[in-house]
Amino acid sequence: MNVLGHTKVMGVFGHPISHSLSPVMHNAAIRALNIDYIYVPFHVLPENLPRAVEGIRAMEIAGVNVTIPHKEHVIEHLDEVSEYSTRLGSVNTITNVEGRLRGDTTDGPGFVRSAEAAWGKLDGCRTLVIGAGGSAKAVTFALAEIGCEIVIANRTRERAVELVEGLGKVFAAGTFRVVELDGQALGEEIPKIDLVVNTTSVGMYPDVDGIPMPPDLLRRNLLVYDLVYNPARTRLVAEAEKRGASAVNGLMMLVYQGALSFEMWTGLEAPISVMKDAILNDEC
Ligand code: NAP
Repeated sequence: MNVLGHTKVMGVFGHPISHSLSPVMHNAAIRALNIDYIYVPFHVLPENLPRAVEGIRAMEIAGVNVTIPHKEHVIEHLDEVSEYSTRLGSVNTITNVEGRLRGDTTDGPGFVRSAEAAWGKLDGCRTLVIGAGGSAKAVTFALAEIGCEIVIANRTRERAVELVEGLGKVFAAGTFRVVELDGQALGEEIPKIDLVVNTTSVGMYPDVDGIPMPPDLLRRNLLVYDLVYNPARTRLVAEAEKRGASAVNGLMMLVYQGALSFEMWTGLEAPISVMKDAILNDEC
């Protein structure tokens, strides 16, 4: 990679940041398109976030991704926030438009893009979301945006209730419910469900035998999306496929959220397969 005087900088702010796969994915895209950019990780402690954001302006950085724990706190430091991110209350992409910093989110849209690339249009699908953390928020907002009915089950019920209340405030017309995360409650829901999304870390390396729901509830004609991508074939994916369901892991959500950010910064179409291969060759 040839870094020259006019090379433009993109990057990611997070804490921790050393595990991030974004530099691998974005720099592969930069090389493939032969454009004069570089993407670098920035370790930003919470107390340094305001100065780090100021640094985007001061150093004319083209754009940054924002990851844990900054996605919500960063909003107050930006000049402009998209309507979608305002409603969500979270930003994962900052674009520097001639010194004005615009916040956006590509997590949820990346999830939907990747799921629709696998299965076609999902508008209006009846979805069971397991988990109620940060990624569940991104996923449920994106699904609500395309008119899906959403049932949420989480180990800590109060967090699911909070998420449903948040959805209810933003999407007045939607159908959002909380159910218990147990075999009986899920057993009653599953026959009415088209898509199951695991947004918990259950099943992620090293807990590779973990599964977020009883496997016997999985069946044919069910779509199963596991946000976990390490291991590539999670137990949830394996058990779903064994029972005739169509299942994918979270690799392509990671790729599409990055691709959407890349397109905002460069104005160029992101090379999806290059970005995917870069991650596969690096870690998974
Ligand atoms: P988070 O905000 O910390 O939320 C974690 C969720 O997992 C909570 O709902 C938590 O339940 C649940 N959970 C954790 N351990 C559990 C267990 N042993 N049994 C049942 N539930 C459990 O994390 P996050 O940011 O949403 O990330 C969650 C997972 O999604 C991670 O594996 C992450 O790698 C993956 N992810 C993937 C992508 C992608 O691009 N593919 C993007 C974002 C996240 P409680 O509320 O009860 O604690």
